Amino acid sequence: MQLVCPDCGTRNRVPDERLGDQPVCGRCGSALMASKPVALDDRSFGPFVEGTELPVLVDYWAAWCGPCRMMAPQFEAAAAQLPQVRFAKLDTEAAPQTAARHQIRSIPTMALFHRGREIARRSGAMPAAEIVSWVKQALGR
Ligand code: ZN
Ligand code: ZN
Repeated sequence: MQLVCPDCGTRNRVPDERLGDQPVCGRCGSALMASKPVALDDRSFGPFVEGTELPVLVDYWAAWCGPCRMMAPQFEAAAAQLPQVRFAKLDTEAAPQTAARHQIRSIPTMALFHRGREIARRSGAMPAAEIVSWVKQALGR
């Protein structure tokens, strides 16, 4: 299983049976399977989403957005329930290029990527249980 370090962008190979053993990046030591969402930016977004072999769920958000702030703990709770999905956040104010490239017109918007390709998208805040069931359905699980 190839996992990309959210901090330094290094592609790490982790045996599937070791995914639950809190693997860390061989270069910088950052957690590769953190149970909390990781923060991405214009530089790290592409390499992370394209290189991570597990599905990646991205929450596009901004600090000024009330519904985004309300959803943040729900997104974290959903992350804890779906360890086989990498949860990431993109601050659309800090990373305008990525937000524009992915045509994010309202926030919060969540997009699910698998092997670099976007396979599902939803706009609007959702509670954790709804996020979990939507992602499972989108992945056919
Ligand atoms: Zn690293
Ligand atoms: Zn897969």
